[in-house]
Amino acid sequence: MAQTQQLSNCIFCKIIRNEESGEKIYEDENVTCIKDINPVSTHHYLIIPNKHIRNAKTLQPEDSELFDKIVTTVGIISEKMNLDPASTRTGFHWPPFNTVHHLHLHVISPIEKMSGLRKLMFPNPNNYWFVSPDYVKSRLENSKNRTL
Ligand SMILES: [Zn+2]
Ligand SMILES: [Zn+2]
Repeated sequence: MAQTQQLSNCIFCKIIRNEESGEKIYEDENVTCIKDINPVSTHHYLIIPNKHIRNAKTLQPEDSELFDKIVTTVGIISEKMNLDPASTRTGFHWPPFNTVHHLHLHVISPIEKMSGLRKLMFPNPNNYWFVSPDYVKSRLENSKNRTL
């Protein structure tokens, strides 16, 4: 991956480059999946693009393919970690409600094990602070149409 697409001071970019420790459970040329350091349920993972993208709102039409790869990775992780799809929640923070400014898809399972406050932090998308992959995808498709 090109170094120019990463930031030197970003924690996730550093984890991707192995300059910072993070428990990687999956990685390929496009995405990396790590364990959330503050898990809100038994399983809590972050799927991050290896390219530094600030957040779901700054995704560009040219990132569409990469975005699809992030979403497809949910299936790989679910299978690998034996997650029940019916009890698994996925979503992105929506600005300004980001903690780390490198795009990441939260994968949380099982939902039933989350406490009330945690459910509020990671609610069933879509809310104005936590949105579904489908919402981001349709927004991306619309912006693509606008540029044509
Ligand atoms: Zn980064
Ligand atoms: Zn997060």
